[in-house]
Amino acid sequence: MNMSFDAVYYEPNALDYELGQMLREKYKHLPWIEIESHNRIPELSAAENQDFPKLKKHLIIGLRKTHKYVENHKVSDWLVPYTSSGCRAMCLYCYLVCNYNKCAYLRLFVNREQMMDRLLKKDAAAPAPQTFEIGSNSDLILENIITDNLPYTIERFAREGRGHLTFPTKFDMVKPLLNLDHRGKTIFRMSVNPHEIVSCVELGTAPLSARIQALNQMAEAGYPVGLLIAPVILLPDWKELYGELIDQLADELNEKVKKTGFIEIILMTYSFVQNAINTDAFPQAVPLLNRETMTGRGRGKYCYRNDVRAEAESFLREKLSQQLKTMPIWYIS
Ligand code: SF4
Repeated sequence: MNMSFDAVYYEPNALDYELGQMLREKYKHLPWIEIESHNRIPELSAAENQDFPKLKKHLIIGLRKTHKYVENHKVSDWLVPYTSSGCRAMCLYCYLVCNYNKCAYLRLFVNREQMMDRLLKKDAAAPAPQTFEIGSNSDLILENIITDNLPYTIERFAREGRGHLTFPTKFDMVKPLLNLDHRGKTIFRMSVNPHEIVSCVELGTAPLSARIQALNQMAEAGYPVGLLIAPVILLPDWKELYGELIDQLADELNEKVKKTGFIEIILMTYSFVQNAINTDAFPQAVPLLNRETMTGRGRGKYCYRNDVRAEAESFLREKLSQQLKTMPIWYIS
């Protein structure tokens, strides 16, 4: 996994925290550049679209100051801003690019105790146990190899929380999580796509077979698990690609995942901003915007036309009902 960086941009008060100090030591061989705020680094926002891969090599360290929870109605009740935003990988459809544009590089927030205190308070005050999605702004398995934040997060919530935490990932480095005292309170979701899409579109992520093995291991370790087929990308040979993916899942997932896991399916949306960056930064990449099958959805966004979606949905439901019939499909969106 390429987690090398070429420079660290940091808010000075991040060094007052233990994690800030640990990172300072770990990356002491890199240039450290002081910034006022992780949200405003003018020299980086002024970069050209084609510099996107270079920007992704920077690591940003700061404090998370806003902690706004957004209501959600899929697997979780709340989307929670947690210990990172952005990511070192470069999936060509990454929705974080819609939020951060070229500045979708990895930002680490060192005040994790404060964020967990808030989350536990919200959990305790709710009339019923809540589920908190902590991975909607980054990939926490990838982040964890630098910060070691997940063991702290999972075990503290296991002891003090009432509901569940959940996060999705496209990475396989789950070893540090397997022996934790999680008490079944963290729902682990593995995001998958056909091997060809992983290698041409999900740049810098883990191979499909490694993700399947990681999901098997997490289920064996007693975590509640889910499979996220997302985003479904309707390339010209999509039926073949997704048919083979489902066959491979049926072959390689273990019984534990098949008996206890659930499935989510999300069709790709794409945006004008992503298209502009990808066109300049990855001119050889497979084009994701298809004007024949996609339609505008307001604010520069594109999604598949309703008839195209309906065909994909019925194909996937049919194939899953043959191959993975014990796993319920929670939603297709
Ligand atoms: S792994 Fe997730 S967060 Fe990282 S670039 Fe890919 S989609 Fe974005």
